Amino acid sequence: MSYIRCLTALAIGTLMAAVAAAAPMKALIVDGQNNHNWRETTPHLKKLLEETGLFTVDVATTPEKKQDMSGFKPKFADYDLVVSNYTGAPWPEETNRAFEKYVAGGGGVVIFHAASNAFPNWKEFNEIIGVGGWGGRNEKHGPYLYWKDGKIVRDTSPGRGGSHGPQHPFQLIVREPDHPITRGLPRAFTHSADELYSRLRGPAKNLTVLATAFAAKEKRGTGNHEPILMTIRYGKGRVFHTALGHAGKQCRSVAFIVTYQRGAEWAATGKVTQKVPDDFPGPDEPSVRD
Ligand code: ZN
Repeated sequence: MSYIRCLTALAIGTLMAAVAAAAPMKALIVDGQNNHNWRETTPHLKKLLEETGLFTVDVATTPEKKQDMSGFKPKFADYDLVVSNYTGAPWPEETNRAFEKYVAGGGGVVIFHAASNAFPNWKEFNEIIGVGGWGGRNEKHGPYLYWKDGKIVRDTSPGRGGSHGPQHPFQLIVREPDHPITRGLPRAFTHSADELYSRLRGPAKNLTVLATAFAAKEKRGTGNHEPILMTIRYGKGRVFHTALGHAGKQCRSVAFIVTYQRGAEWAATGKVTQKVPDDFPGPDEPSVRD
């Protein structure tokens, strides 16, 4: 009898472990203020995470500009992944501390496009995002980061952080082909017309540049290979920072979609189990989904 009971308990235990393994992870998208159309992009960000089958997704929306922010206290600790689609008024101090604690304790974060413009003077946030632009950022916020002669340069020259020229399709060059996010991707692939973020600067600590794009001078660029996809380690946390994704249109580019989905999984788990899809672009033409 006890042997049977023991076997039954074992079977139930195995079943529960299997269910736990298959249970989706929890993701939270933060939005509510942005100089970009967050109402358009958040549904893309949500759908793309759900499409992986790995996540269920909640959205935490802040009050609008100039409204009382004091009640904005999402429970970051309940999530495996936080995606920031936010740049705007400061959060309550308590929320900032909770976010820092969440990341330092092993939480996953995705920084999406203009989310790197947020909170220029929140020191820990800037360590979490690695580099950012605009918001009065300058040499006091950290070096410029770009790729030159086979390596990343941290350039302490004075000047403002953040610039881009007119939208155009551009090629990303993978600089870390053995990282889980980039493993199996072509060494060069093209993204649809988007802003090519340049002159990003910040503490850039514990930061790995996965892919760069060349900001051509004829497109009002810097003439440098700018960091576009990055990872940052902050405490035990993992951050995936993508400079892509100005609006809903850019969220249909397969270069964005796949790197975002893989970056999200890596930030949440440290691994990537997703296969590279057949419609992933090569070096010359972007690939766009309906
Ligand atoms: Zn933009």
